[in-house]
Amino acid sequence: MPQRSFGVARLAAALLAATACGGGAPAGPVSPNTSGWWRGQVVYQVFVRSFADSDGDGVGDLAGLTARLDALNDGDPATTTDLGVDAVWLMPIFDSPSYHGYDVRDYRAVNAPYGSLAALDAFVAAAHARGIKVILDMVLNHSSSQHPWFVNSQSGADAARRGWYVWSATDPGWPSPLAGAPPWRPAATGWYYAVFSGTMPDLNLAEPAVEAELVDVMNGWLARGVDGFRLDAVRYLFASGPQPAQQRDQPEAHAFLRRVRAALHRDHPQALLVAEAWASTETVATYYGAGDEVQLAFSFDQADAIRSSLAAGASGDLQNVLLRTEAALQGKDRGFEAPFLSNHDQERVARTLAGDLPSLRLAAATLLALPGTPFVYYGEELGMQGGAAADDRNKRTPYRWDATGPGYGFTTGTPWFTAPEAAGVDLASARADPGSLWHLYRDLIALRHARPALATGEAARPAVAGGGAGAFALLRTAGGARVLFVANFAAAPAGAFTVAVAGTPTVLAAEGLAGAPAAAAGQVSIPGLAARGFAFLALE
Ligand code: CA
Repeated sequence: MPQRSFGVARLAAALLAATACGGGAPAGPVSPNTSGWWRGQVVYQVFVRSFADSDGDGVGDLAGLTARLDALNDGDPATTTDLGVDAVWLMPIFDSPSYHGYDVRDYRAVNAPYGSLAALDAFVAAAHARGIKVILDMVLNHSSSQHPWFVNSQSGADAARRGWYVWSATDPGWPSPLAGAPPWRPAATGWYYAVFSGTMPDLNLAEPAVEAELVDVMNGWLARGVDGFRLDAVRYLFASGPQPAQQRDQPEAHAFLRRVRAALHRDHPQALLVAEAWASTETVATYYGAGDEVQLAFSFDQADAIRSSLAAGASGDLQNVLLRTEAALQGKDRGFEAPFLSNHDQERVARTLAGDLPSLRLAAATLLALPGTPFVYYGEELGMQGGAAADDRNKRTPYRWDATGPGYGFTTGTPWFTAPEAAGVDLASARADPGSLWHLYRDLIALRHARPALATGEAARPAVAGGGAGAFALLRTAGGARVLFVANFAAAPAGAFTVAVAGTPTVLAAEGLAGAPAAAAGQVSIPGLAARGFAFLALE
């Protein structure tokens, strides 16, 4: 049997931890999800290393990001030179030996190439001055193998931090739940569990001292002014046995998240937790708990379905996922969803869609029509494609601020990494072209903010008759306000179709409408849509 790991001893430790969170203080009730600041907002995901370099060393940093905040949101709703996003998620900014930072060496220190604690404070202050909230990436599942905790833990069976990781005297021989290398890794003093990589040993979250330390870390960042956390890899927080299904989505993970939420909300009731549970919509929905686990979770199936519906020229995949999502969140809350198109672990959506602008425009419109809190991956609004997905760095290339290489406004030096982009895929060019993808994102973010039905409303899929396989309709409703989104996912024009909802339509935004939509016999008639066309219609 593994030492201190997945048997009765670990379960007992988990039960103990249930009463020991936050260093022993009792956890109070959590704030309702529905009162959260993120409701109705749009979040922008930033890889600090690739966003803006302030000092010419080719590596993006917090000072560079701070200096460029006006491009994201200048804090003045009257101006139209900014994208208009409401919050930023910073991928890991803590001390780490890797370029990506998902193996943390010190949870309380800013990664030196990104700047100092003072630089982070200045960034948070500058963001808040513009009304931008700040979400930090928090990796609770594992640390770096270079973390002093693990260095101590692996030094021997009697080490002070031995129990902070998961050790076995012999190889338990489990297969990976990720179709990767087996998770038990050899060290001089035993075998340790590390589901992602040997350099990323899993923390023993059943150890109350580990939970208390991580809660203290998170409370420290909240006290410093950040507004929430994106929680990495929540599916893998606990494992209970050799089968892949025993190495993910364990009940202990849900209990852990409930305790963490309560422990953070005691002093910071507005702290947001958004989960990366890379799984089916049904599994993702389990992290809602009773409204007491995470407040948001990324909608991976929707991201896949938007891309595959565009690739197929038919709306069926998206319809099916939305049907499943409605069922999975029945009696819960569609505001739990965090729709997105692609993220740092995936080929960029513009590459998947081969840079086809009408497809990218419909992808953006669909993202910003869906319920929940949409996330935009930096550069998506420019149509950045990055490079071939076999190398993760190709998914995380430097932002293109202008058309002048080799730094493209990202750096005055040599970029830490780069991949080619098509001409015009840069912010300066996009701002100068009223027909650019960036302008569409900006306009639709503004529309979403202006229309409560889009920002926070309920979602339903009224029946569509005609229009072919690409036709799609989504109705958003808040109080008496209604916005109908219609689209044609096909690569060919859609003929006239009707949507089974009553009301007189007014066009708010549209591309490729064949004529004026109208009320007809208790339905809305759409006279036709161009290939990848769409329309947002207010219904009176
Ligand atoms: Ca730099």
